Amino acid sequence: MKITFYGGAGEVGRTCMLLENNGRNVMLDCGIKLGEKTEYPAVDDVKKVQAVTISHAHLDHSGFLPHIYAAGARPKIFATKPTRDLMGILLSDYYRIGVLRGEQKFSSKNVDQVLKDCKILEYDQEAVNGFRIRFYPAGHIMGSAITAVNNIVFSGDICMRKTRVLDPCRRNLEAETLIVESTYGGKNDILPGYRESFGKMVEIINETLDKGGHVIIPSFAVGRAQEVLLALDDYMRSGALRPTKIFMEGMIGKSMKIYRHNAIYANDDIKRRILMSEDDPFKSANFHRSRSKTKEDVLKEPSIIVTTSGMLSGGPVMFYLEKLGSDPKNTLIFVGYQAEGTLGKKVIDGQKKIRIGDREIELKLRIESIRISGHADFNELLQFIRSFKGLKKIFLMHGEKTDLAEYLEEYQVIIPKNLESYDI
Ligand SMILES: [Zn+2]
Ligand SMILES: [Zn+2]
Repeated sequence: MKITFYGGAGEVGRTCMLLENNGRNVMLDCGIKLGEKTEYPAVDDVKKVQAVTISHAHLDHSGFLPHIYAAGARPKIFATKPTRDLMGILLSDYYRIGVLRGEQKFSSKNVDQVLKDCKILEYDQEAVNGFRIRFYPAGHIMGSAITAVNNIVFSGDICMRKTRVLDPCRRNLEAETLIVESTYGGKNDILPGYRESFGKMVEIINETLDKGGHVIIPSFAVGRAQEVLLALDDYMRSGALRPTKIFMEGMIGKSMKIYRHNAIYANDDIKRRILMSEDDPFKSANFHRSRSKTKEDVLKEPSIIVTTSGMLSGGPVMFYLEKLGSDPKNTLIFVGYQAEGTLGKKVIDGQKKIRIGDREIELKLRIESIRISGHADFNELLQFIRSFKGLKKIFLMHGEKTDLAEYLEEYQVIIPKNLESYDI
């Protein structure tokens, strides 16, 4: 079997690999890298792709699919049901943004084709398509999967902790070769516990509201937003967080609906709350959507605004930074990973002047970063890797820097580069 890395090696974004064996092939993820300029995986001939497995709906794992359809490929796509549903909103939004920027490279019909061609593969079931393909829960976002192809396992993005919404990823799997994400592969990448992180977040929000300020929480529409919203709702119900309107902006409302439709994939706490009582956490009365184009309902009194995009690369968060960014009463709280080169990363690193359209804004609001990632941290990655049975070879990818190899001397560890191929 041969593996080629077309994207996602040494970087967070455009995850895309191809497995080939005896004239058959299957692509593992098919993502893009969003930044100031969109980057694509460097696949030479997309028409040869026979099948694609999608680990989860985030665009850095699924966004290249409509492009390969536009180029004439018609592969069989394997995804869990929530991944298919969430791709529906993320790919449509990606199409819309491309049209707005005047740089669209595929049509809305290509998006429809992708969704139509998706074969739903449930966790722990097997599909045979020249390869034996299985998905296991990955704990990262709803429907996210660890992908097994024969005796090769690709972690996708994994979370080892039980979160508000999801169970942790599956462990103790069997594999000879593991391709594993390493977003937090640096030895100092140790994340605090959720309780500690959310405790700090509640404190910061209360301080801001007491001063009459607004709180802006930039977030990915799918995954972090639901974790943050459900946590804020719980803290508000318990009285720890002052009663305030929580606004969902961008596509966050839509993805909440899809989370609700697929609640069977959530952890037991959520299922129990929905099934056994009238207490539906996805439909809390604390959640609001703006009814005004100029957003005066959001801006008129202190509020919490959970909004896309998570790395400040567009979306309604830019509007709110323009309106609220230069008032020191307000607070901006980052809750997710900020990739190199993004505005979010620059702001976290101290950049105060930002350009929005043709205006320059000086950021005077309080800026905080709370680490509630949907990814395994350094120690958890080691635990995850060491839990495998029969493991010999490891490829470390989906990360910008990694110290993991030093700690994994009992295995053959490879840190591949894009466009490299290996026999496995
Ligand atoms: Zn992801
Ligand atoms: Zn990812």
